[in-house]
Amino acid sequence: MIQLILFGPPGAGKGTQSTFLVEKYNLVHLSTGDIFRYNIKNETPLGKLAKTYMDEGKLVPDDVTIQMLESEVNKHQNPEGFIFDGFPRTASQAAALDAFLASKNSGISALVALEVPEDELKIRLAERAKTSGRADDAKPEVIQNRIDVYKNETTPVMDHYKKQDKFISVSGVGSIPEITDRLTQVIDSLR
Ligand code: ADP
Repeated sequence: MIQLILFGPPGAGKGTQSTFLVEKYNLVHLSTGDIFRYNIKNETPLGKLAKTYMDEGKLVPDDVTIQMLESEVNKHQNPEGFIFDGFPRTASQAAALDAFLASKNSGISALVALEVPEDELKIRLAERAKTSGRADDAKPEVIQNRIDVYKNETTPVMDHYKKQDKFISVSGVGSIPEITDRLTQVIDSLR
């Protein structure tokens, strides 16, 4: 079973690449951002709570996020594997994920980090804002906040998996198919 963390800053291309990888390897794609947006659209209590954080580019609190992620994983019986996209985003989410998977006699196969320079991220997010309809893409100060949160709160997740020797870096610059090729080479080496 492949349990991949697809990691990277906002705008790195995690969602885009996940759609290709899910199809190729028959994996379940769990994007915490997508799940929160689904809850916002449906005006659930979770969505109302998450919106207050997301609109400002802040992280939704760990306890809420971890509980949501675990219940999503538990919805799938005997999957061939998971791509975790946008999770874990803090060191404590990483520790919680490891403990949760260990309780199922499983664990993360690898964290694959899509590396994209900050200037390029800002250009991509500003471009995405034209079509995404996402409030958090629309304002430059919110984009900056998300990048800062990534640097301060999320990069420790890389160190967490480096210590476990599960960290793999992939360049996220290039055409979409080029990057998919890089990722499939990595995944094939894990199987
Ligand atoms: P991006 O990678 O472009 O920032 P996401 O869709 O992954 O977009 O996340 C959008 C927002 O959803 C984040 O800025 C944050 O507010 C919230 N969010 C997503 N995943 C998490 C998480 N694991 N922990 C806390 N908040 C999260």
